Amino acid sequence: MARTGPQKIPGASQAYFYGAGRYSGSDMEVNCGVVHTTEGMSLPSYNGGSMAPNVTGVPNMKDRTIRWYQHFDVDESARALANKLGGVDTNTANVFQIELVGTCDDKYKTSWSGKQAGVDYLHWPTAPEWALAEVAWLVRWLNQQHGIPLTCVKDWLAYGKDSRRPGITPASYGPSPARMSMSAWRSFKGWCGHQHVPENDHGDPGSMNFARVIELAKGTTSKPTQPAQPAQNEEESDVPRYLSLGMTKAFTLQPGEWASLAWDTEWADQDDGHPAKGQTFATGAHYNGMLHVRADGVARGDELQVRLVEDDASGKTVKNFPPTEVVGTSGDTYGWVPIVGVVGNGTRVKAQICHFGKAPITIERAEIKAHIWPL
Ligand SMILES: [Zn+2]
Repeated sequence: MARTGPQKIPGASQAYFYGAGRYSGSDMEVNCGVVHTTEGMSLPSYNGGSMAPNVTGVPNMKDRTIRWYQHFDVDESARALANKLGGVDTNTANVFQIELVGTCDDKYKTSWSGKQAGVDYLHWPTAPEWALAEVAWLVRWLNQQHGIPLTCVKDWLAYGKDSRRPGITPASYGPSPARMSMSAWRSFKGWCGHQHVPENDHGDPGSMNFARVIELAKGTTSKPTQPAQPAQNEEESDVPRYLSLGMTKAFTLQPGEWASLAWDTEWADQDDGHPAKGQTFATGAHYNGMLHVRADGVARGDELQVRLVEDDASGKTVKNFPPTEVVGTSGDTYGWVPIVGVVGNGTRVKAQICHFGKAPITIERAEIKAHIWPL
């Protein structure tokens, strides 16, 4: 089965994309969606991707926006549903899965661990219109680009008391009357919640007003855009992440030998593209910055060269970029080298240094300052 249509959600961060690694999923053609709530206040780590949905929405309570983090392609199976042996397929049943950061639990309707609902976090069953409109934007895009119908199941039981299931609390948990039969699930199109999926016990996202999300998605008015809203066009125009790394331990460089700069100090790595003490400074990203180097022992007029190289996932160098020269001066030699480019997912970029003098020199220090835009 092919993956048809755009696979990346416009404006979504790809910094926690798991679809290309060990937890990559199977190809699908989505025709329905399942909504979850994370029962937390920040982006979950999902055990490195093994339990991740296709996308997580993190509310920014101050800006009244949702920041989307994509974990799998749109037409790639995610991992947030339980699936039992036999019975029906769940995660792989052409289903697009959304996790919304916040809670559905009616115990936390007004406050949670000293925080206030609607101010510090979202209780999704009572979420304000702006939050539903943010979800509606994604639901509409998935309808336009992938044909997921703008319909949803009728009963969204509360994760708490609910007259539709008297005597059982939380009403949406376990084998509630809202949970679909296997045959209903097999032919299901449109939107439902985790509480509706067979072979599953979870009751999220509670009594979320998803009918209102559908109404907003159908509406002709455009999404209520806030100033800090991620761009909704196809171009990635997010605010870049800042990267600031240092190599603070001096080393000796023999003439004619290319050495990779290992970054032992991390002042900022918002995109998390730099592994601890590693040589890689970016992966799966556009980068634009400067590399500073300080060397001792370069004879006046001798050349120091700096180049970028790309390694594949196995660590094999697959590409060398042309070097930039720094010319030796009296005393220590200081140079700034521009580093600009784009490195694919699964490929890593690092910096190397070489010199062509007669005697060994000392590379005293190096620093990288760059802006990083994840692909
Ligand atoms: Zn769930």
